[in-house]
Amino acid sequence: MANMDQHPQKPKGNGAVEHYDAVVIGAGFGGLYALHYLREMGLSVRVYDGAAGVGGTWWWNRYPGARVDFPGGPFYCYTFSEELVQEWDWAETQPDQPAVLAYLDYVADRFNLRRDIQLETWVHDACYDEDRQRWMIETSAGARVSTQFLICAVGTLSAAYKPDIPGIDDFAGESYHSGRWPHKPVSFAGKRVGVIGTGSSGVQAIPEIASEAAHLTVFQRTPQYTIPARNRPIDPEVIRQARENWAAIRAKMNASPSGSLFEVSDRSALDDLPEQRQKLFEELWQKGGLHLLFGSYADIVTDKDANRTLANFLEGKIRQIVRDPKIAEKLMPNYYVGTKRQILDNGYYETFNRENVALVDLREDPILKITPAGVCTERGEHPLDMLVLATGFDAISGALLRLNPKGRGGISLKEKWSKRFDTYLGLAIADFPNLFLIHGPGSPSVLFNMPLGAELESAWIGDCVRYLREHGLGAIEPTSDAEKSWDQEVAEIANRTLFPLTDSWYTGANIPGKPRQFCVHLAGPRYFQRISEIAASDYKGFVLEKKIPATD
Ligand code: NAP
Repeated sequence: MANMDQHPQKPKGNGAVEHYDAVVIGAGFGGLYALHYLREMGLSVRVYDGAAGVGGTWWWNRYPGARVDFPGGPFYCYTFSEELVQEWDWAETQPDQPAVLAYLDYVADRFNLRRDIQLETWVHDACYDEDRQRWMIETSAGARVSTQFLICAVGTLSAAYKPDIPGIDDFAGESYHSGRWPHKPVSFAGKRVGVIGTGSSGVQAIPEIASEAAHLTVFQRTPQYTIPARNRPIDPEVIRQARENWAAIRAKMNASPSGSLFEVSDRSALDDLPEQRQKLFEELWQKGGLHLLFGSYADIVTDKDANRTLANFLEGKIRQIVRDPKIAEKLMPNYYVGTKRQILDNGYYETFNRENVALVDLREDPILKITPAGVCTERGEHPLDMLVLATGFDAISGALLRLNPKGRGGISLKEKWSKRFDTYLGLAIADFPNLFLIHGPGSPSVLFNMPLGAELESAWIGDCVRYLREHGLGAIEPTSDAEKSWDQEVAEIANRTLFPLTDSWYTGANIPGKPRQFCVHLAGPRYFQRISEIAASDYKGFVLEKKIPATD
């Protein structure tokens, strides 16, 4: 698989080594807060990010239509600073990419973070030096850096995936990946545009592109269920209440399965009569957002029959909205609804009623190759001026594997994770002492409120570092046994749901050859309770090493 972020290494500097207590890789939600937390503890910290600005995923994913797909505004942001909550005004229920990026820029200034962040700098190499209990890293800027702690806040959806379609680099027109969208304005006006991919990125971008382009061809391999986001201005009363009751709201989000304020139902979909279900589904569909999935019935993603009730409802909506029954059938999904990342859209199905939009069903008419002039499928060529790849990411483990740190005895992460993405708590890896992950495999990551999860994990890591320092310890590393039992715990929880039954990026099925493993801990609040208990038990499951006196 092509790495879309290959950057030449600059010549090495004068050989001098920079020293820090902690290096953080990534300046998104996770990395920014880790920097703040560790710096407040008195550590010297350096953050590196390959992007030219802070923001992580919100810096890269600036394709048209990019918006938060979680309850947004005052609920998809940092919670650690009450002042910040009072100061920042969110305008919409599903903020768009510029709004989230503006917020993160504000945070970087507000907490004076930039002085410790080095942008446009990729970490090329990271090796653990057992004798010094430190990581040695090399950056694309040619620097050599020594740090006791290495915190990988590299993002779960940051290693953009460009599929190996024959001729993909031969296309002569404009070509963009949704996750590497250019910073200059992109005009679709008067152009014949093709979009490959109908996940969240494709579904968000397609209505926007269709409204401007001369013609849009959507190349769909797997149809998806999507729910209207119904983005709207935030009710000022919601903001007022969020500000007035911040501590209580934060506690409520921490205790909820998804880290949000959704009222979770405890009823089975099968307890209601069909007309009662239909009424509830319709009400929640009209409300928009994730209410339909989280707020309807408790067993939508755990019981196949309950799942079918919602699937029937959504399939009915597709037939109702899409005027051409043949196109409606092509858009009909075939998986357990909710077990792929639930997409929120802004007029996606309606887009297929437009005269200037065509749908190519790749299951019956596969892509053969891409030529300089367009996309060739079995049934012919689709001439294009612009190609948009909304083909997703090597999710959760991909960015860590591209970093490929070398741990104890020189073992590389690629070797360690050649078959399974084992971690302990999603936070640490056996044989990789003093390396911490934010949103790593085995943490709640993408199925919990991500900014909130990043805060809680960063704080856990910071508190662990404090513990080591207070106890004269130089290194911490989980045991392999602890990893194995964590792996089992993650799998046991997942196996009570329908998630592992679906091919999705949650299971690694979107990347050819990737080991299949469901890598998300599905019990958010219990997860955060467990990691606190482990910290309180003097880090059960970890090996703690005495500090080796410094030799440099
Ligand atoms: P994705 O969900 O993985 O979707 C990728 C799409 O590309 C799929 O439709 C896939 O088809 C298609 N594809 C991949 N390789 C292909 C090939 N060789 N030929 C044809 N089609 C191919 O990726 P994404 O849409 O970028 O979304 C990833 C995740 O990012 C989301 O699930 C979400 O968590 C996050 N995201 C969030 C937001 C937000 O609103 N906050 C917005 C965008 C993305 P198959 O399904 O058949 O593989």
